[in-house]
Amino acid sequence: MNNFASVSQESCIACGACNSAAPEIFDLDDNGIAEVIYGGDSNRGITAIAKELLEELQEAIESCPTNCIQLSAVPFA
Ligand code: SF4
Repeated sequence: MNNFASVSQESCIACGACNSAAPEIFDLDDNGIAEVIYGGDSNRGITAIAKELLEELQEAIESCPTNCIQLSAVPFA
């Protein structure tokens, strides 16, 4: 199951769509750039997203215009 997520921030255009779709998983920093906040992850991609939130996560991924949300079955670090 792909339940580790991280934002490739260099490709993020600060549109906020991910935060709208999955506010428990994504937030925007002071510059509007998205990061994974779930479980205090700080965009490291090491916190497994709970099963109940995977639908929201998928919506966020589909809503991202630059495809910069990465998913993995294993932690990113
Ligand atoms: S949807 Fe994509 S481009 Fe928009 S803020 Fe989120 S990560 Fe950035």
